[in-house]
Amino acid sequence: MRFTEFGLHPDLLEGIDASGYENATPVQEQVIPPILEGRDIIASAQTGTGKTAAFLLPMIHKMLEHKSEGLTRAIIIVPTRELAIQISQHLEGLSYFTNISSIAIYGGNDGQNFVTEKKALQSGADIIVCTPGRMIAHINMNYVNMSGLQFLVLDEADRMLDMGFQDDINRITQAMPANRQSLLFSATMPQKIRQLARNILTNPVEVNIAISKPPEKIVQRAYVVYETQKIPLVKSILQTTPFKSALIFCGRKNEVKQLTRTLKMAKFDASEMHSDLEQAHREEVINGFTSGRIPILVATDILSRGIDIDTIDLVINYDVPHDGEDYVHRIGRTARAEADGMAVTIISEKEQNKFAAIEELIGKEVEKTPVPEELGAVPPYQPRARRSGGGRKFHHGGNKRH
Ligand code: AMP
Repeated sequence: MRFTEFGLHPDLLEGIDASGYENATPVQEQVIPPILEGRDIIASAQTGTGKTAAFLLPMIHKMLEHKSEGLTRAIIIVPTRELAIQISQHLEGLSYFTNISSIAIYGGNDGQNFVTEKKALQSGADIIVCTPGRMIAHINMNYVNMSGLQFLVLDEADRMLDMGFQDDINRITQAMPANRQSLLFSATMPQKIRQLARNILTNPVEVNIAISKPPEKIVQRAYVVYETQKIPLVKSILQTTPFKSALIFCGRKNEVKQLTRTLKMAKFDASEMHSDLEQAHREEVINGFTSGRIPILVATDILSRGIDIDTIDLVINYDVPHDGEDYVHRIGRTARAEADGMAVTIISEKEQNKFAAIEELIGKEVEKTPVPEELGAVPPYQPRARRSGGGRKFHHGGNKRH
């Protein structure tokens, strides 16, 4: 589903576009509409699923629809300062073209920061991203005005309970108006989270985004290249990696057709598979591939799910799949039986963020293999998702149009 279909505010769509997002991830598809309707949410979603934008976008949209001045409208409570910084960077990106203001408030014994935070709280920053302890310290000083609060988000709620923040969370929520909208996100759903949800949420919509992990025996590798180096790299991989059956995934059928043509011209025994082929033709290709007659198959994601071909020992992602779920399905086509398998992903410059999100989701950094020297210099792997740090500042969007 494309972001333009949610009916979000145009200034927000601009921020989404600038962040490089086109299609919503599954968690975004499932939680954005009910949040827009005003429902409470309890969602099990891990980091890497796109959960941050899933709650930020509808919240910011609703704030833009109904303007209000000088009062804090949303509080996002998170377990760690790292997550607070990360969410507030996300927020800055997505709200860049709006006038929504925000501040991250987190622990650390810095008097200067405390003063900055106090000012932002007193002036009513629209969105506060905070760790529980620090927020309580401010609440105790009696200048936090929650009378205009519309949204509460608890992110990584299971981690917060594990860290012993239960009482702090209760104290913060007790200071909030009861008629707010509350959203709870948690990687796991143990009983204590259900109990917390009963105390904090009202008639919530429940969303489960279960992510399967790739089998351990699949060797995962990635190459970081420029777009123009992809075809020479595929040829080099096919020449230097021993395999019986290789499946190459491309996101679009035009890419499938073009890559197959190029490989055939270079004398590789490759066939293609995509939705333009007649059913009979597809079956013929699948039979040829499973029987070993066709050693290399170039395909769209039509082949990433459901089809079990035990002989595949090499999967090449010619492009980075849309999300972690697709990645797991694609690479799961190899190493199906007792055989070992190798899954290689080719990452162009503009796909680095997407791949970093997938790495986060599968909870593992995929080894980056050096590209053969004859292909020339390659870009560094510097996805935005990994950017750490960032200062504590009182961010104000202020229609920063260029
Ligand atoms: P999160 O699960 O919120 O930590 O997000 C993981 C990563 O996915 C972050 O780097 C986001 O910038 C990125 N991301 C979130 N939503 C999308 C989307 N719809 N399309 C592409 N990337 C996204």
